Amino acid sequence: MSIQERDVSELGPDERVAFFERDAGIESVRSDVRDIVERVREEGDVAVREFTERFDDVSVGNLEITDHCERAYDDLDEELLEAIETAVANVREFHEAQLPEDWRETFADGRELGRRFRPIDRVGVYVPGGSAAYPSSAIMGVVPAIVAGVEHVSVVTPPADQINPVTLAAIHAAGADAVFSVGGAQGIAALAYGTESVTRVQKIVGPGNRWVTAAKAEVRGDVAIDFLAGPSEVLVVADDTADPELVASELIAQAEHDPNASVVAVTDDEATGEAITDSLEQQASEREREETIRSALSNDASGVLVARSMSEAILFAEEYAPEHLSIIADDDEAILERIDSAGSVFLGPYTPVAAGDYASGTNHVLPTNGGARVTGGLSVETFLRSTTVQRLSETGLEDLEDPITTLATAEGLEAHAESVRLRLDRD
Ligand code: NAD
Repeated sequence: MSIQERDVSELGPDERVAFFERDAGIESVRSDVRDIVERVREEGDVAVREFTERFDDVSVGNLEITDHCERAYDDLDEELLEAIETAVANVREFHEAQLPEDWRETFADGRELGRRFRPIDRVGVYVPGGSAAYPSSAIMGVVPAIVAGVEHVSVVTPPADQINPVTLAAIHAAGADAVFSVGGAQGIAALAYGTESVTRVQKIVGPGNRWVTAAKAEVRGDVAIDFLAGPSEVLVVADDTADPELVASELIAQAEHDPNASVVAVTDDEATGEAITDSLEQQASEREREETIRSALSNDASGVLVARSMSEAILFAEEYAPEHLSIIADDDEAILERIDSAGSVFLGPYTPVAAGDYASGTNHVLPTNGGARVTGGLSVETFLRSTTVQRLSETGLEDLEDPITTLATAEGLEAHAESVRLRLDRD
């Protein structure tokens, strides 16, 4: 299994669909996921336990494991604790900088208008943990919620063999207040509808594999969700100054997440393209998760692409709308200037995606499958709702009388017009 090498200009319609309408295998599990969600909704903990036994091969006792997190934190070795605390501090700092201020402003003609921001009450964070452990995702999901002021933050995470103690410690450090040992579609359904053990939440956030992502799509509407954050993606735009080994290392790093991950390099230089492909082959065989990496490299939405010009490469990247965009090129800022659709951007040879994955402070929960065309990643705003506030003076209302009553009458909503006249005719 190896990566496909293509010229952008020679991509056929089917190949373009595979790249630009990629779905990372989510569609293929939708009907299974619908059944899991329905069973958990109807049967609660019984169904949760049954699916956990089937998919995680674990028979769970108490679903709630909040206490285990504090203990795991206390028992963790110094180096890991320090890494977790550094990541928490940087993520907190970046997200605190996003906190919006309430505001009121007086506009012309006596109109005082404003917005205020309040946290959502109860949110659920999915922390993945199937084929790898994700303490980093605990930090990325929980810290922004706490910064936003969310009062009740629940976490669900798969039990795997034994939940990874680093994940438990990170959940504690991030500040969640309830933690449950359930993952996959059953974990999402438990948060969406509640069970005897798991309290229902108002919004679910967090990344996961295709079952988790399909489940978020399934419950959307009954509960709010952030967006679909499925199997990882990276697209690297590289010119002839890029070191092919560094480009390849970015593709390999995201490929090791999931066999359904999508990884792309696009360059305007044929020799660079060939060197990236060679380096991918070599690096893949040196990595511990070689099998997962090779599956991801051979996906239809993965490839090394050679464009006729940097403009063609940029257009490809824009249309792909990747979760992670890395630009390794001489004038990276000029390339960035021409890109609007990407979840998170990494500039220059010293900025690996892994920095944002773990510790620089930006959020790693990001939209996949082209979601970056319409939304950004997890942020403080994900956990806030906004309310508009207004107060009009008497002259303010007088100035608006004509447009309001004229439009209300045109809509046939005469009571609206009357509610204005009533106030102005009083004195
Ligand atoms: P996970 O927690 O997402 O999934 C594990 C769960 O999947 C298991 O607990 C099980 O319940 C369920 N499952 C597995 N096989 C199943 C089957 N045959 N039928 C039904 N359910 C099944 O953990 P993971 O698998 O390690 O995946 C983590 C994912 O998160 C990766 O795809 C990674 O790329 C992604 N990720 C995405 C982002 C993002 O922001 N987009 C960030 C970090 C990680």
